[in-house]
Amino acid sequence: MILLDLDGTLGLSLIPEEDAISETLKFISEELAKRFGRAVSEEELRTLYKETKNEQYHLYHLNPKRHDKNLRWTMLLRKLEDKLGVRLPESFYEDVRKRYWSVFESKAEPYPDTQETLEKLMEKFAVVIVTNNDYAEAKKKLKLFGLKKGKHYDVLVTSEKFNVCKPSPEFLERLFPFLEQKLSRKVSVEQVIIVGDDPKNDIAWARTVGAKAIRVKKDLLAKHDPSNEAEEADHVIENLSELLNILR
Ligand SMILES: [Mg+2]
Repeated sequence: MILLDLDGTLGLSLIPEEDAISETLKFISEELAKRFGRAVSEEELRTLYKETKNEQYHLYHLNPKRHDKNLRWTMLLRKLEDKLGVRLPESFYEDVRKRYWSVFESKAEPYPDTQETLEKLMEKFAVVIVTNNDYAEAKKKLKLFGLKKGKHYDVLVTSEKFNVCKPSPEFLERLFPFLEQKLSRKVSVEQVIIVGDDPKNDIAWARTVGAKAIRVKKDLLAKHDPSNEAEEADHVIENLSELLNILR
């Protein structure tokens, strides 16, 4: 059984996310000047974004809400309102969220070998996509990557399902019995292979239950070195299609 991460593993989405954040901060800065006569630089907004993200991660520790982008933009705009002493209209909140998603959607894409590799893996293995995204965001990305249930994967599991995120071992402990029921087969850790781009959230996560782990060096984390032994994968690959050689 293969458990594949989504972001950065099956397609380019982390760099597009960074681009979409930059574009959205620029949009906010320009609109504040134009529509509300307030001067806030992109740099100030960048600092506010970092603060907001840290706050969200702290507030929703290992909870799916920590990855909710719509919530993050709402939190940021609330902080901005406090800072400026103004009330921004709800339509502005909506414009900001729309801007973020439209830039993201124009840039996120599957890797050239993603679809074919998954189709071939499906011939031999149960293919499960496991992501920290909430359900709506995961579905959006599967659509952008052109991935269909039954053709490219058997099951999609989001962090919302068990209300817990990677790298919590609890996610895996609850996932195995769920997959046993869903796929009507016994799932033991010896047959599970975890594939992901993130040394901490995928590789070290696999290690918490002693599962085999394969690292795909792609997207934003491609050059990110493991920071401890648990983050060292059994195999490191540059392209997803190399899985077909490793998992014979
Ligand atoms: Mg990832």
